[in-house]
Amino acid sequence: MSRFLYLDNAATTKTAPEVLEAMLPYFTEKFGNPSSVYQFAAENKTVVDEMRKIIAESLGAKSKEIYFTAGGSEADNWALKATAEAYQAKGRHIITTKIEHHAILHTAEYLERQGYEVTYLDVDEDGKVDLEELKAAIRPDTILISVMYANNEIGTVEPIREIGEIAHEHGILFHTDAVQAYGHLPINVDECYIDMLSASGHKLNGPKGIGFLYIRTGVKIRSFIHGGAQERKRRAGTENVPGIVGMGAAVKRAFDTMEERTAREKEVRDYLIRRVENEIPYCRLNGHRTDRLPNNANFSFQFIEGESLLIRLDMKGICASSGSACTSGSLDPSHVLLAIGLPHEIAHGSLRLTINEEISKEDVDYVVDSLKEIVEGLRNMSPLYEDFVKKQEKNV
Ligand SMILES: *Cc1c(COP(=O)(O)O)cnc(C)c1O
Repeated sequence: MSRFLYLDNAATTKTAPEVLEAMLPYFTEKFGNPSSVYQFAAENKTVVDEMRKIIAESLGAKSKEIYFTAGGSEADNWALKATAEAYQAKGRHIITTKIEHHAILHTAEYLERQGYEVTYLDVDEDGKVDLEELKAAIRPDTILISVMYANNEIGTVEPIREIGEIAHEHGILFHTDAVQAYGHLPINVDECYIDMLSASGHKLNGPKGIGFLYIRTGVKIRSFIHGGAQERKRRAGTENVPGIVGMGAAVKRAFDTMEERTAREKEVRDYLIRRVENEIPYCRLNGHRTDRLPNNANFSFQFIEGESLLIRLDMKGICASSGSACTSGSLDPSHVLLAIGLPHEIAHGSLRLTINEEISKEDVDYVVDSLKEIVEGLRNMSPLYEDFVKKQEKNV
């Protein structure tokens, strides 16, 4: 019996059937350009406005504060680059963290090359930002604080409300990359003093290539794409109507089902964590034990190469991800795992399993049983492990 278990929902998710169904007519009979004047196309303008409203309400925001983009990366780029440009007279200092997604980190590095200064905050061993360190990093020329809502690798949820309060007290703009949290955790932009927020459709059972940037009224923000008058002249280009309809449907679905869905995920996640910790020796859980995304489990296994683990899991029909070097296409292991203080060799042996509401405890049993067998098999081939066992034997 061949199985297929997708446990990489932090990388992307399956478009939900009802989301696809909502989108389909906008590829075919409802193909009009929302900017056209005839009634046929005006209906598409109406549907785009409706979706904008659904999204705004999910955040406690106003419709005109939602700007559609081609995904999370674009929203992150826009938030940082446009703020840097619009506020450079006030200062050229930006604060972010060492564990952000590359869409933030590489944009920050780009801005450094343009003459901006960036402070990259450390995180503790659970991946949390230290609020005192944040306060100490603030300078008179700080224009922006950008801290992610929840981390895509280790699942840690950051103290976003406290960070927002600190930014607000100092008159500094606060942006959060909420791509992993949106649709999975409740968010209110006013309660958390969020000025800008990035989200993406394909991380919440919507389509790929659509996302948005929330920009609070009053924030000076520059146009990101010049051209037509779409998105209040801030982001030109004919609207991705099927994508926007899919995003709206996915948001509606995610918020309608959030409580039940995430309660189920947490229960299965905790079962997974418990079994791995109890049954596989020399392993650690990465990320905060309780303040973590409902669907995220991340482990490091000593004496294991993450890449080999992924290949063997794949042979058993299990899709997962690793913070090891090869998967990310660079020599260094994940910057997130290094930032929480893992030595290189432990970071290399990491495994991220991100579930969805369809994953059952029985599926988890299959995953853990496979994992036990694979880890044991790989360790038995490892000279490092052999040495370790010999030393242990000498000590007793
Ligand atoms: C996936 C992801 C992004 C990028 O979103 P895309 O829509 O794929 O461009 C940005 N930030 C985080 C935290 C993510 O997980």
